[in-house]
Amino acid sequence: MEYFVPDIYQKSIYTIDYKKLKKDGIKCLLIDLDNTLVPVEVRKPTLKNKRLINQLKEMGFKVILFSNSNRKRLIPFKEELEVDCSYFSCKPLRFKYVKIIKSLNFDESEIACIGDQFITDILGGNRIGIKTILVNPISRRGKANMFSLWLNGIIQKRLVKKRLFTVGKYYD
Ligand SMILES: [Mg+2]
Repeated sequence: MEYFVPDIYQKSIYTIDYKKLKKDGIKCLLIDLDNTLVPVEVRKPTLKNKRLINQLKEMGFKVILFSNSNRKRLIPFKEELEVDCSYFSCKPLRFKYVKIIKSLNFDESEIACIGDQFITDILGGNRIGIKTILVNPISRRGKANMFSLWLNGIIQKRLVKKRLFTVGKYYD
């Protein structure tokens, strides 16, 4: 179960201490899209999204949208936020992480992933050895990931039972 425990847990992408990440040597951020950046039904980035991503870029982070969703879903975000994206990432499988690490020449210790799901974002990141940051899902709605949300709920319950995680008890 330890593989499901995030290194950092924050309320949302807006409460993460990016300055601290920078100080800790993080250079690249893999950010999940659905329910991390926007709810599933939102097709374009919000103004708040744009402000944050611009701020992160100004701080010198390489920002990559790292999603299991398809290309069509990612394109408007890639274009409007002017960031790279990885679609069909098949989290928690390793190969897309490995591809990014190799192509950008980053060390695992220089990459952090941010996402709302234990089963994909946190498990995937922990398996590959990068820093994992869990945020609360923006919305619990969305047909597309009902199964994933259900599975995520089961894992969360187990983590709580084993005292490895407490909902709302944020740390970094
Ligand atoms: Mg998500």
